[in-house]
Amino acid sequence: MQALASVPEAGKRKPVSVSNPDSDELKNLSAEEKAIWSASLDYYRHSMISRDLLFDHGMEEIKNKLEDSESAIETGSIAIPGDLRLVLQRAAPIYRKHWWPKHEAQNQRWIAALNPLIQKHADSLFTTLTTIYEEPWPGNPVRVDAVVYANWAGAYTSLEPTRVTVSTTDRSNQGTAALEVIFHEASHGMMNKVIDALNDAEQTLSSKRKNNPIEFRRDLWHEVLFYTTGELVRQRVPGYVPYADQNGLWKRAFTGSDRALIERNWKPHMNGSEELQQSLTKLVEELATLGPGARSGNNSPGDH
Ligand SMILES: [Zn+2]
Repeated sequence: MQALASVPEAGKRKPVSVSNPDSDELKNLSAEEKAIWSASLDYYRHSMISRDLLFDHGMEEIKNKLEDSESAIETGSIAIPGDLRLVLQRAAPIYRKHWWPKHEAQNQRWIAALNPLIQKHADSLFTTLTTIYEEPWPGNPVRVDAVVYANWAGAYTSLEPTRVTVSTTDRSNQGTAALEVIFHEASHGMMNKVIDALNDAEQTLSSKRKNNPIEFRRDLWHEVLFYTTGELVRQRVPGYVPYADQNGLWKRAFTGSDRALIERNWKPHMNGSEELQQSLTKLVEELATLGPGARSGNNSPGDH
């Protein structure tokens, strides 16, 4: 993360910053530690940062292997590229000594704050989400890594297997929002039926209107996901403002009437009074009546 923060534009979508105490700790490294640490940052700057944690399959494989190894990077058996393994093996003891105790305490505090919400709402969210999406829960268990630094979005999920990485310091992930973020991320592993249903609806409508093409919506399934988890948490926690509302996603990423149309067409399915396909077909048809000019498009991607 220090390497990322030191390269302007490397984070692309949202500035990534290292907390002041974490930067200050650099002063406490011995000369030998400093040399190793700065060589590690150089390696990351030159070899890793340009690669996206979410969309680069090689990076995903490295991430999964590192997670599988837990904290055993020093044993040398982990199957990641040799140069990266060497860099991590040399840097790990320095990280553990200088940053890990504080980071672990922060992560544990975040987990402890989230736990009562999980105890209270997890069973009902689990049942409701699997019913709405008509898909099994995407792992038993779904692994969640609670970390100080995640990525530009504050959380992300890799699929097959579904694994969640969430920042415990991101301001948007605190309090009840942590509950929504965790279930939002896990839901990424249950979206196949929604994605297929939206594709079907768009294809069907498009073939009916050859001379008046519709706008194919790359992120509509993600908007539906944002709405669903946010609304379910809002229904369970009085006064809660869903993540997308709180963080302005409907204004800066998913613009136009999307939120209102999702609420009108998708909520009946959430409540069990309409089939999934029927509900999403209505959504696509209603969006199409507005035409492409009714919205400014996805100027910036939605978070997570
Ligand atoms: Zn998401």
